Amino acid sequence: MSTSALTDLHLHSDQSDGRLTPAALVALAAAQGVRHLALTDHDTVAGLDHAAAACAAAGLRFTPGVEATALWRGQSIHVIGLGLQPDEPVLSAHLAGLRQHRRQRLLAIGERLARRARLPDAPAIAARIGAETAVPTRTHLARALVEAGAATDLANAFRRLLGHGGPGHLPEDWPALEATVAVLRGAGAQVVLAHPHRYRLSGGALRALTGEFAAHGGHALEVSLGNMARADLDRLAALARRHGLAASCGSDFHDPAMPWNTPGRFAKLPTDLEPVSGRL
Ligand code: AMP
Ligand code: MN
Ligand code: MN
Ligand code: MN
Repeated sequence: MSTSALTDLHLHSDQSDGRLTPAALVALAAAQGVRHLALTDHDTVAGLDHAAAACAAAGLRFTPGVEATALWRGQSIHVIGLGLQPDEPVLSAHLAGLRQHRRQRLLAIGERLARRARLPDAPAIAARIGAETAVPTRTHLARALVEAGAATDLANAFRRLLGHGGPGHLPEDWPALEATVAVLRGAGAQVVLAHPHRYRLSGGALRALTGEFAAHGGHALEVSLGNMARADLDRLAALARRHGLAASCGSDFHDPAMPWNTPGRFAKLPTDLEPVSGRL
């Protein structure tokens, strides 16, 4: 089902929770046949200059992006801005606030793990990640917990410790969806609702989220991703049609050791949907 696509608009580097430098990521994407890519690190634009330079050198088209964390009905929702002006001041302040919140959140998660999962080293691990990492994510913490022997692998760390219902789970607290869309629009971005099928939402709630996203000025839904069931793709395509939204696609690549999210590997978009790449 997965085909190699020329355009990958959702990729992470080591500037957030990806494993590769922006330059190594561009090299891997080019080797996989990608001709146009967007770097969309969580809550930072720090890798964009290096990625742009690597793309220019390799003859790839580059789109500057970001995956911003937002809140809707108590859940964290990811909103991607594509084709943004990285230095736009309101965006810069918004992203700095997100990173500041992340540092405090990681410490609070570490305390919770110590208390509720009997992991006395967790606060020190969280503090170290917060000090060493510009965008501290739960991915960083999950990797460190695996290294410390507290979980068998990343999925296990999320399922047993960090995920919903787990001892390290904290109520989510992020800027509202509406404000996030406005900030990204203000920076000139095409605004994309990321991986709508991954949220813990009923069908009705997902339609409500998509409707509100469109009403706030969101432009596109991410319809095709790496490692996605065909039924989910069909469902998201129908949702994009229903709300008159364009469609985006990407791998959500983080790590070469996770080959189910390789750059450029995801199904083609349905031909009746408008690809957001045409607006970039
Ligand atoms: P955060 O933004 O700090 O809450 O971390 C979210 C990140 O954790 C996502 O962007 C994914 O990269 C990663 N993640 C979430 N759930 C899982 C999971 N079950 N297995 C592996 N990685 C996950
Ligand atoms: Mn991530
Ligand atoms: Mn995401
Ligand atoms: Mn992502």
